[in-house]
Amino acid sequence: MHRRNVLQLLGATAVAAAYGSSARAARSGDRVVVIGAGILGAAISYHLARRGAKVTLLEKTAPASGTTGDSFAYLNASTKSSSRPYFDLNARGMAGWRRWQAEFGAALPLQWGGSIYWRDENAAAEKLLSTLRICQEWGYSGRRVDEGELRGLLPKASLGRVDGAVVYEEEGVVDPVGAVRVLLDRAKALGATLRFPVEVTGIDVAGDRVRGVKTNEGNIEADTVVVAAGIGSQWLANSLGVKLPLVPSPGVLIHTAPQPKLLDSVVFAPTSTVKQSLDGRIVSSSGHEGSSEGGDLQQQGQRILANAARYFPTLKDAKIERVSHGLRVLPQDGFPVLGYAPKVGNLYLAVTHSGITLAPAVAQFATQEILDGIAPDVLAPFRPTRFA
Ligand SMILES: Cc1cc2nc3c(=O)[nH]c(=O)nc-3n(C[C@H](O)[C@H](O)[C@H](O)COP(=O)(O)OP(=O)(O)OC[C@H]3O[C@@H](n4cnc5c(N)ncnc54)[C@H](O)[C@@H]3O)c2cc1C
Repeated sequence: MHRRNVLQLLGATAVAAAYGSSARAARSGDRVVVIGAGILGAAISYHLARRGAKVTLLEKTAPASGTTGDSFAYLNASTKSSSRPYFDLNARGMAGWRRWQAEFGAALPLQWGGSIYWRDENAAAEKLLSTLRICQEWGYSGRRVDEGELRGLLPKASLGRVDGAVVYEEEGVVDPVGAVRVLLDRAKALGATLRFPVEVTGIDVAGDRVRGVKTNEGNIEADTVVVAAGIGSQWLANSLGVKLPLVPSPGVLIHTAPQPKLLDSVVFAPTSTVKQSLDGRIVSSSGHEGSSEGGDLQQQGQRILANAARYFPTLKDAKIERVSHGLRVLPQDGFPVLGYAPKVGNLYLAVTHSGITLAPAVAQFATQEILDGIAPDVLAPFRPTRFA
């Protein structure tokens, strides 16, 4: 039986006691191929390289050219209140970003300005407050604010009617492309190899084990293969008969030219979501989590800008530099798919929406699973086997 299966039988606690640091030393030279240089592939590669694994990261286009480059990149758990395990995993992700900040310092383009929500209609305000109550009961920092305080927090906004408002102080945003750059630089400095453009065209399997990957530049052997290929993960998994159902979910954002300082927090107004990056650019979406309305992208962009300008009038004539049309990596049930694939002993799947928030936690857990043989119990609800 493969060592990992034996370890799972023994149980995580017994394993930690039985193997301790010798297991880490024994596994640290493992050859791991990671497929996909989005936020998850970059994060996992960095964590594995830090522990001494021989990492080869393969990217078919360029780093952060997939969903990560089109992400709003709001770091939060408050939008995850429908499930306690999912909320907790996201809170671990946020804690992980703070650890990364301690490691990387100002190189990491993070902004911990909190988030501000308000609603202009009673039912929506009630929903906002009931979400706040759940988050508070689960130990999260957040509070109701009155209209006066809201005006003080957003002096440059034109709020309109306010039926209820909430702030979550510990949330933030990040520039996802800049974060991938930092993680890859650190991973490479630790010996990881990043290759692009190199496309993985198949996975090389013998029996119930992966031997490596097939690419358009030849085969590469590996002890473990990590699939962090975003929406491309579905095809890779399916090619081995592993079910990984993803649902299409496009999201549209506008990115403006740099603007004078407008806000410090990420803002969820009744019909618009707005953040201002460190370089002054405004990133905004409207509708449900920035979902695409379909039709012409530039016209959608103009509507998003008009919506943002309802609340921040100085944005009315802002120049839109880019309208992005991103594809969420959305598993059918909405929850992450994390862990070894069923049937194939050493193929690890890391596929999820909210991957920006979750990246540090996913990277930590994946590294522990791959190098230490630990099966963290917090991942139990998110295993790929649930689709088998
Ligand atoms: C509009 C929008 C808003 C979002 N907002 C948020 C948010 O506010 N907060 C949050 O936490 N998350 C948010 N998300 C989700 C988050 O962006 C994603 O979960 C995350 O970026 C996924 O990262 P990834 O590394 O898994 O995938 P990707 O970034 O897509 O990376 C996968 C990479 O794999 C490469 N690849 C694919 N197939 C192959 C192959 N065969 N060989 C080699 N390389 C391959 C691709 O080129 C790509 O670069 C949002 C997403 C969208 C679209």
